[in-house]
Amino acid sequence: MGVLVVGSLNVDLTVAAPRIPAPGETVLGSELHVSPGGKGANQALAAARAGAAVALVGAVGQDTFAPQALQLLRAAGVKLDSVRAASGPTGVALITVAAGGENAITVAGGANAGVTPGDLPADLGPHTHLLLQQELPPAVTLAAAQRARAAGRQVLLNAAPSRDTAPELLACTHHLIVNEHELAALAGAGAGGGAEVAGQARALLARGPEAVTVTLGARGSVTVTARATHALPAHPVTVADTTGAGDTFCGVLAARLSRGDSLSQALHWAGVAAALTCTRRGAQAAMPLWAEVQAAGA
Ligand code: ADP
Repeated sequence: MGVLVVGSLNVDLTVAAPRIPAPGETVLGSELHVSPGGKGANQALAAARAGAAVALVGAVGQDTFAPQALQLLRAAGVKLDSVRAASGPTGVALITVAAGGENAITVAGGANAGVTPGDLPADLGPHTHLLLQQELPPAVTLAAAQRARAAGRQVLLNAAPSRDTAPELLACTHHLIVNEHELAALAGAGAGGGAEVAGQARALLARGPEAVTVTLGARGSVTVTARATHALPAHPVTVADTTGAGDTFCGVLAARLSRGDSLSQALHWAGVAAALTCTRRGAQAAMPLWAEVQAAGA
């Protein structure tokens, strides 16, 4: 039982501004919002709030941002023994949000960039599911996947952000989760959108995964396996801010699978939880508790 997340922890520094500054330009923005982030931390929190026993492996720095990166995780009961306090800074994302909603993000990897395979716990413990993203050095992600696979655990990979995904990593993955952009990057040049999504996802099954889920924003998600295609419309909500929706989807999917739900049940709850995250501002702060997800999706 339970989910082990090996991934990034950041602090997001967000300023709203009339526009994204042009090169050399200074723009006066509104007040600074400081909030915990990083795909590893976000997905660990979503999984814990959905009722799974969760442990996180990663690193923060030894600076004033470190406690902020850990605050909501600790409150949700995520096990943090394997989050190392590295020398140097915590990972930071500098985010400018323009009036039209467009954003520009610069990430300083900080402690995340220094995570090595040596940081992985020798024993995977009671965790039945490993959840990975692509914000840590690729060698760490691959080593975690290989170790978990060899130990008979289920490996879920959210191939985000888009970067070269090693064939060996895909080969170790049981369940791959991507959005449309990440799907196109993985499927290769010439890949189209729309009706081709399920076909492209199905082609990825040949590279290792037993299931491929493509999240489609307000259009929901589609999941393919060798036997079936599950197309799931989005849970209808009034959207305030879609930040964190993808991370909520991945975290809750892993959480519910670790609790013994079937694939179609777990996908249902992941979609409901991701939609609820869209109804509130922010990433981690917007993620719903299991009772809310159950009430909304029953
Ligand atoms: P990402 O943020 O990683 O690009 P998506 O935008 O595809 O991910 O969103 C992930 C999931 O969040 C979707 O599959 C869907 O379940 C949910 N979601 C996203 N946007 C909406 C929306 N406008 N209404 C309801 N659910 C949404």
